[in-house]
Amino acid sequence: VMAPRIYTSSVPPIPIFEQSIFTRLLSQDSPSLIGGQPGNNVAFIDAGTATQITRAQLRSLALTFGYALRTHPRTNVKRGDTILLYSPNSLAWPVVVFGSIAAGLKCTFANSAYTATELAHQYRDSRAKMVMTSPEGLAIVRDMFKALGLSRAETDSRIIVIGHGFAWAGGPTVSPKAEEAGLLTLDELLKVQGSLQQEEKFDGKLAKETAFLCYSSGTTGKPKGVETTHQNVTSVIDSVKVTFPPMRYEVDRILATLPMYHIYGAVKLLFFPLLCGVPCVIMPRFDPELFCANIEKYKISVALIVPPVLVVLTRFPAVDKYDLSTLRFMLSGAAPLGADLVKQVTTRILTKRKKEANPDNEFHICQGYGLTETSPTTHLLPTKDSTRKVGSIGILLANLEARLVVDDEGGPGKEIEAPEGERGELWVRGPTIMKGYLNNPSATTNSITPDGWFKTGDIAIRDKEGFYYIVDRRKELIKYKGFQVPPAELESILLSHPDIADSAVIGVDSVKEATELPRAYVVHAKPDTLKTEADKEAFGRGVAKWMETKVAKHKFLRGGVVVIDVVPKSAAGKILRRELRERAKKELAVK
Ligand code: AMP
Repeated sequence: VMAPRIYTSSVPPIPIFEQSIFTRLLSQDSPSLIGGQPGNNVAFIDAGTATQITRAQLRSLALTFGYALRTHPRTNVKRGDTILLYSPNSLAWPVVVFGSIAAGLKCTFANSAYTATELAHQYRDSRAKMVMTSPEGLAIVRDMFKALGLSRAETDSRIIVIGHGFAWAGGPTVSPKAEEAGLLTLDELLKVQGSLQQEEKFDGKLAKETAFLCYSSGTTGKPKGVETTHQNVTSVIDSVKVTFPPMRYEVDRILATLPMYHIYGAVKLLFFPLLCGVPCVIMPRFDPELFCANIEKYKISVALIVPPVLVVLTRFPAVDKYDLSTLRFMLSGAAPLGADLVKQVTTRILTKRKKEANPDNEFHICQGYGLTETSPTTHLLPTKDSTRKVGSIGILLANLEARLVVDDEGGPGKEIEAPEGERGELWVRGPTIMKGYLNNPSATTNSITPDGWFKTGDIAIRDKEGFYYIVDRRKELIKYKGFQVPPAELESILLSHPDIADSAVIGVDSVKEATELPRAYVVHAKPDTLKTEADKEAFGRGVAKWMETKVAKHKFLRGGVVVIDVVPKSAAGKILRRELRERAKKELAVK
């Protein structure tokens, strides 16, 4: 057996902290300093109302909220319990997340577009004790409890409604709606008399306890709780910081349009800005006009995005309407980013820049890469290489090791690796690898080897200079605009359709939208009823419509539904997805 070919990071190692995320970012080092930064330094800004909170306010609001969670007669949570957060981005996010962490709780973040059924899976699987929901999400949360067979009398005490304006930060007050009568609200909890003396500590070995749980399907199957630890987070933000363009205090501002319930948003928008000491401007969702307007209004210098945002920027008229000259860095992640798209947007921005307020400001679009399971970022392209290495996910971040494995059939220690410069499955090891999948030891052992290597399921190559490129995906996961679409989940929903006997779901590429689209192949239960091609197509359209009543928007079958005679499978019964992907390519080429 040959010794494994292990690539180490070219970035010098950096210290690893043994404390909680709260302690690292918001502890009181001296009366005027919070987390090593001036306490009056603005931490978060609500883009819509311009309401802002400083670091000192965030710390104090979080300690009050943490105290309320632990002591209010109607809350029922203790250290180690899990609380679910179901809300689009808002200024309430940092307060409730740091408050929950201060109280020693684990947060589980749910996609704010989830249906009641999808939410029920996460609520039950994470064993959450309470739910924090935006006012818009309340009806779904109540439906979720109903779906779980729980009555309103039993469950109203488990709900906290967050995000009625931001009166607690001097922002506007919005009155609760009639259907919220009798429920706990963030506003009310922040009025309690009292505060935690200090945050719950996770020092030493306790830093390896779970801080939050995002849901990911991983290599196969349905969404699983990813146990991200305090140390995972404190490690990843530091390792990103040393490869990220240096942030300038009182100059730089980060724009948050990515959802904070996805780990990319949580880490880069809630935690990373606090480490750098720069404000983060929060938008509830991506909107092209507001995206450009807010860059001008708040003099944004850094924007975190997913590839489809760049497609919009290539053709959207608002790009010309606003002064975008403060913008110097866009980081794209969560899905593959094509070199052509980068070049198009860069050209458009730089051409326009000559007529703007800061004509000489630099501008770079770089790619990052990672997974929920790697907290998330493992690779980042430095700005100095943005043109030279366009299309690359960049270099391996500090404290990480990587391998490119072509065959692991022989089991641990007998893997075969790709020769230099050739493709293999990317494996990563280091302090940012998740603890494991919640209550799922078999999924955990399937993805992390006994000696700590995490198998990403992505196929990569590494060039001579140590830059990595993602070239394919080995796992079944589909990504729609950066959102996970687990085929296994859609397949089991399709099987619940009375007229469907078998199904398989794959992703097809849409160059136009810079994303994959989920496409289903279904076998009709009584194939003879579909006599013509037109019958089959009509059936397919009906199934796609039906799916829209079952799942969140990003899982809609936008890539089409095709009727086939039989789903191709291996002898062991595994769906031959590659075969279906080839088939789809031909079908779509004909059209
Ligand atoms: P998630 O856990 O939702 O972040 O999904 C992780 C997966 O997204 C990875 O395993 C990749 O398949 C994909 N992904 C993330 N970033 C990139 C990237 N820069 N290029 C290609 N694929 C990516």
